[in-house]
Amino acid sequence: MATTFNRRTLLRGSAAATALAISPLTRATPAAAALGARELPRGREFLIQGAYIMPLGGAADLPRADIHVRDGRIAAIGANLPVNGIDVIDAGEMIAMPGFVETHWHLWNTTLKGMIRKGVEYFPLKQAFVRHFTPEDFYVANKVALAEAVNAGMTSVHNFSHNTRSPAHVDAELKALAESGLGGRYSYGWTDPIPNTQIQQDEDIARVKRQWFGSDSPFGGRVDLGVAVRGAMYTARDVYEPEINAARKLGCPVTMHIGQNKRRYTSCAQMRDEGLLDANMLLIHGESQSERDREAIAAVGASVSVSMQSELRDQEDGDIREQLLQMAAKKINLCCSIDSDALGVPSQFDNMQIIWNLGIPWRGTPSEKLPAFDLRQVLDMATINGARAFGREKEIGSLAVGKQADIILVRATDLNMIPVGDVDSTVVRHGNPSNVDTVIANGRVLKRGGELIGIDVKALRQSASASLHRLRERAGGQWTPPPGGPRF
Ligand SMILES: [Zn+2]
Repeated sequence: MATTFNRRTLLRGSAAATALAISPLTRATPAAAALGARELPRGREFLIQGAYIMPLGGAADLPRADIHVRDGRIAAIGANLPVNGIDVIDAGEMIAMPGFVETHWHLWNTTLKGMIRKGVEYFPLKQAFVRHFTPEDFYVANKVALAEAVNAGMTSVHNFSHNTRSPAHVDAELKALAESGLGGRYSYGWTDPIPNTQIQQDEDIARVKRQWFGSDSPFGGRVDLGVAVRGAMYTARDVYEPEINAARKLGCPVTMHIGQNKRRYTSCAQMRDEGLLDANMLLIHGESQSERDREAIAAVGASVSVSMQSELRDQEDGDIREQLLQMAAKKINLCCSIDSDALGVPSQFDNMQIIWNLGIPWRGTPSEKLPAFDLRQVLDMATINGARAFGREKEIGSLAVGKQADIILVRATDLNMIPVGDVDSTVVRHGNPSNVDTVIANGRVLKRGGELIGIDVKALRQSASASLHRLRERAGGQWTPPPGGPRF
């Protein structure tokens, strides 16, 4: 039988107990009340006990306190809350914080994540495969991405679906999202390829709104329907204006890429002058935005989402570091995102770490006198700012009484986290998805004891490998699966 070395086992040793008792993150909890490390609460009401609570959203940390979850909401936060017979999750070694809010992710192409290599960059890869995805391929890709999201502590994601090939493809993505238990946004995009002179028709968006976002929606108000447009990066005003107006008529917030370089660039100042920029807009990237553009974004109150690994790889002639500092100086609501599994690790920890490391003024550049990003600012970007970008900051993005119970417990005792000094610094600069012990979305436990609940990773791997194999066969030529290739 395997021996497990958990905290309780170690505490039986007196020397270890003395050493471990020093940190406020290792408070012992009465064993009788606590669930086992991998046990799930029996109902919709439970207590997270003894955590270091980082509520974010401007609230002060509570070094050792409890969170009472009831019917998907946070019923109370405070020290020594009464147990009253409900199940207790021992969080004595954990940092409790809001689930991460992800704000731009093309989930459909997750299957291509291992295909970037020498001579194969993201855009040519995407174009080679874009026509070959079936609804089943979409479903599998979404299932993998959403499992990764849960694993990494995201409780909301934004599926920026820019390859909506047919109603069946859309339904496959929405089915996966509904099954995941996560919240966020689904933005209906366009069929790729579509001529840049052609307006994307919106009949199916109206169908999706009725079918998936009506009174009997499986999302229960936790996912909203947006529209993704190609925008001025790809189309002229006679295309993007009617597309944006059609989305507005349906009551759907609009999202669009605004460019990672000068070659592909949308002037937000021009769009504001055209009356086409508004506070509900979620703008993606933005390396080449000018001072006038930033003023326009700030004036209307739109949000900007950055995907750091994608920015670094694809910025070409932009400067994401300078841009982030300049946008922050304009008080633009900055949030962060994954973009595509093929472009980077699906982890808000990675986004936070890169932003903090890059977010410093450089001598001899216009940012010279601007303040560096601080740790709390970066934590907000991965949580509450994303909630603001969705217009849902009263519901998600921070821990507060009455808010949705979207909570993650991050193990503070793992090797890469110890010894914990400044907690913000530890989470932003040292955390990674493997430290996420527990994920709770809308009060439902999706990960516990470091293991995904209800997700068969082996079955997922087999489906994803088979999907990639079929895609490669359909794409043919240089993409044909090589004999003797990896057999995973
Ligand atoms: Zn993108």
